[in-house]
Amino acid sequence: MTYIIEGATGPWEIVVGLEVHCQVISKSKLFSGASTTFGNDANSNVSLVDAAMPGMLPVINAECVRQAVKTGLGLKAKINLESVFSRKNYFYADLPQGYQISQFDKPIVGEGTIILDMPDGSTKAVGIERLHLEQDAGKSMHDQDPKYSHIDLNRSGVALMEIVSKPDIRTPEEAGAYLTKLRAIVRYLGTCDGNMNEGSMRCDANVSVRRPGAEFGTRCEIKNVNSIRFVMQAIEIEAKRQVELIEGGGEVVQQTRLYDPRAGETRAMRSKEMAHDYRYFPDPDLLPLVFDQAFVSEIEKTLPELPDEKKARFMRENGLSAYDAGVLVADQEKSEYYEVVAKGRDGKLAANWVITNLFGALNKAGVDVAESPVSAENLGKLLDLILNDTISGRIAKDVFEIMIETGDDPDKIVAEKGLTQITDTGAIETAIDEVIAANPDKVQEIRDGKDRMLGWFVGQVMKSTGGKANPGMVNQMLRDKILG
Ligand code: ADP
Ligand code: MG
Repeated sequence: MTYIIEGATGPWEIVVGLEVHCQVISKSKLFSGASTTFGNDANSNVSLVDAAMPGMLPVINAECVRQAVKTGLGLKAKINLESVFSRKNYFYADLPQGYQISQFDKPIVGEGTIILDMPDGSTKAVGIERLHLEQDAGKSMHDQDPKYSHIDLNRSGVALMEIVSKPDIRTPEEAGAYLTKLRAIVRYLGTCDGNMNEGSMRCDANVSVRRPGAEFGTRCEIKNVNSIRFVMQAIEIEAKRQVELIEGGGEVVQQTRLYDPRAGETRAMRSKEMAHDYRYFPDPDLLPLVFDQAFVSEIEKTLPELPDEKKARFMRENGLSAYDAGVLVADQEKSEYYEVVAKGRDGKLAANWVITNLFGALNKAGVDVAESPVSAENLGKLLDLILNDTISGRIAKDVFEIMIETGDDPDKIVAEKGLTQITDTGAIETAIDEVIAANPDKVQEIRDGKDRMLGWFVGQVMKSTGGKANPGMVNQMLRDKILG
């Protein structure tokens, strides 16, 4: 897929690489035993290590290492059996150590791949450069006191995985698909909850523009964008800014910028610092992180079926299109819901009902599949009622609406409202005879060759039976009676 910005002097292509910080799911922090629970009182989850008291020593949390390896395996990436923690030195009020413990030239995970599922059903592979473990900083709060800023160190020392993509992304849509897929993978793995609005997944977007096929241009990094939609908007706006700048005779300066969604613009924060500004060096308090292949293999055994594999299985076993399978696996809960509905039933019919009817209704109501008023078991029962001819597809839609409102069992709704399909030939015949008797002129029209009128008769019979007559039988019997 190509996305070209038509500038005054010709076409431009966007080049994007994303750096995503994912908060690791673990009970305690990367180098201390303090809790990672979100929402506790300020400064209640702080050990002496997190507060950087002199002489305190960091101790690596094995669970965080396992989570990083698991994520690396989920990204089909190279796991480095030896990696090194380095100090990244900078001053900030919410960083009492004066440095962040991160990984620099020897990260725990090397190159990998993420497959993007594009809205048109196509796919594209984007390279992963690396994944490294590092500590989060604390939080400065400027709105608690008129004169002072306050610091909350609860987040200080919490483990983050920084996942860096190669500059393989070419459009805002691809950036959106990348983040959607990465979020799905870490959620399936249980290594990060992926909630961007709570800050447990944060994205920096590196954006440059070039003439198609030319060398990469100078990039700007847009920091800490907190929703997928905003990342897509920020890329588009930043790329247009760069094109206008270059075409106006200016030059892009490597910069750190922020995106202001309300103003619809990106603004310079600071000139981009270089790696050497941080004076990285291996942390003398920590040994290199070394584990063996057996440790990796043990983790490999715990991997769940991931979105790509699930998508391939849905296409292979249930005959779904790439698009439908992609929609269903995008979210683990959605895929699990679908599997319950499809089990032992027509997989395509199940996908249709889940995607069109259920997701449609849930979207309208603004609720997640986890809070769906219609359980997967009940939607499955509704499909059974269609498949065994108890109700028609038409009536099923009405029953479904009642299910969405009440959460009731479809068997109960059909019984209480007397919606069972009429498959009794006698009853259908009576209804047909009445309509025929009342419309002799139209009967004649059909006999004269106006076949289309037959549909009108089917409609009349369906109406007179409250939609309950079996449409296939009505059609056949009408044909026999009028033309036979
Ligand atoms: P840094 O650590 O200074 O941020 P990295 O080399 O780690 O630099 O790259 C950061 C991100 O920038 C990566 O995701 C990479 O894909 C992306 N990137 C590198 N060059 C470009 C470019 N010219 N245009 C857009 N993105 C780029
Ligand atoms: Mg960076």
